[in-house]
Amino acid sequence: MSKYYCPYCNPHYQFHTRRKDGALICGLCGDPLIKSKLIKSTQLFALIAAFAFVSPLIIMVLTFINDQRNNHQNNSNLPLAMIFNSKKHNGF
Ligand SMILES: [Zn+2]
Repeated sequence: MSKYYCPYCNPHYQFHTRRKDGALICGLCGDPLIKSKLIKSTQLFALIAAFAFVSPLIIMVLTFINDQRNNHQNNSNLPLAMIFNSKKHNGF
């Protein structure tokens, strides 16, 4: 995707040429090209909205992983007999 575009012509049929003084112009209408922004405001808004919907899932997964790690560490410090006793009480 090119960094320059003509705001007046259809983007599918645009071709860019260079004037004698070096400025980029549209090949169809002859107007000078405009430099496009890297991230448009609508794209920025879409990124923020998508992050707002996805962030609870990310937090839930991180909490689950952290909880599993804490449970694993707690069980590894206990003697083996206490681990078996706790599993009997939990129904496993
Ligand atoms: Zn044009």
